[in-house]
Amino acid sequence: MKLALIGFGQAGGKIVDEFLTYDDAIGGGFIEAAIAVNSATTDLHGLEQIPQSNRVLIGQARVKGHGVGADNELGAEVTEEDISEIQGAIDRIPIHEIDAFLIVAGMGGGTGSGGAPVLASHLKEIYTQPVYGLGILPATDEGGIYTLNAARSFQTFVREVDNLLVFDNDVWRDAGETVSGGYDRINREIVERFGLLFAAGEVNQGDHVAESVVDSSEIINTLDDGVSTIGYARETVDTSGNGLLSSFRETETFDEGAATNRMTSLVRKATLGRLTLPCDVGSADRGLVVSTGPPEHLNRKGVERGRQWLEDETGSMEIRGGDYPIPDRNEVGAIVLLSGVTDVPRIDQLQQVAIEAQDTTEMVRAQAQEDFASLVDTGDEIDALF
Ligand code: GDP
Repeated sequence: MKLALIGFGQAGGKIVDEFLTYDDAIGGGFIEAAIAVNSATTDLHGLEQIPQSNRVLIGQARVKGHGVGADNELGAEVTEEDISEIQGAIDRIPIHEIDAFLIVAGMGGGTGSGGAPVLASHLKEIYTQPVYGLGILPATDEGGIYTLNAARSFQTFVREVDNLLVFDNDVWRDAGETVSGGYDRINREIVERFGLLFAAGEVNQGDHVAESVVDSSEIINTLDDGVSTIGYARETVDTSGNGLLSSFRETETFDEGAATNRMTSLVRKATLGRLTLPCDVGSADRGLVVSTGPPEHLNRKGVERGRQWLEDETGSMEIRGGDYPIPDRNEVGAIVLLSGVTDVPRIDQLQQVAIEAQDTTEMVRAQAQEDFASLVDTGDEIDALF
């Protein structure tokens, strides 16, 4: 499906940059336009793929290009004030060509955390296309303010978008990685999962023989509302088209049964492995299973079995399935999109820590005011100048 991507804040911009690289690499063609919005000039300069003319600086009058720190209320305010600047960039997109908007933002910071929900609300008022969010949760050790920001942003963002796709940094970081090295790797993991999903809905039915290609409307129907998470598993397959091995192979019949079993187990691995947002799979309301890889390895029966298994696992009758044929690839994979998930321990924990952080901040602030008053106040003994 064709998307207008908007990267809000530093993380959002970097991830959209990575989406463009990925779309190019797989020849996906799922990005119609890519825009970056930020209150910090240096972050916008650091981007590589998003065209200069699509980089929008907001809040210049208030923060002079220096960013909003981790103040997401300020992030929301400057977005509100400069929404026409963002609209100016959106006006250059051929809107009739797109199937949906996707706003990407780190939820723990200031600009993206505060601004993304404001932009979502604005886009929904104007356009009929669905507006999706891709929200990145902070790692638990980033500290109270990031957690509080994320909890407040999550609550607002999920209300304003048609569906909030979530990726949790906490589950995906590796011990011993530098922060920037870690983000580069994590960002590739993000775009591979979400990119494959959206690219799947962009295949022209006429391009390939597969009849069961995923349609953008199936993605849109699965992303009906609520919160979503994605699982992905893949396996290398031998696609050598010439040489001794393949001539030997040609004498054999393609092992249909093995392909079916492989696809079914990939669907299970994708679902039960590491999700972008871990959750109780049984709480999902809807689902979509997409098999990816060279057309000759895509096995309809395998997807169908995987789909049925997911129906049993979730107890949902709304599990869709289809193919995304990618010729010239030596991997088959399964993407599992779970939507409308409600049993998400990480969100409960985030909210709990945020409430504690909020209480502590209020207490510390009140104490600081009291201490300051007692520092300055001398009773009646010294008179202030005026
Ligand atoms: P903003 O520029 O004020 O919107 O804030 P940032 O985007 O810099 O940071 C917000 C949060 O996003 C941080 O707390 C991190 O959890 C996360 N983050 C920052 N950079 C990246 C990145 O490149 N990739 C990922 N996955 N997360 C990031």
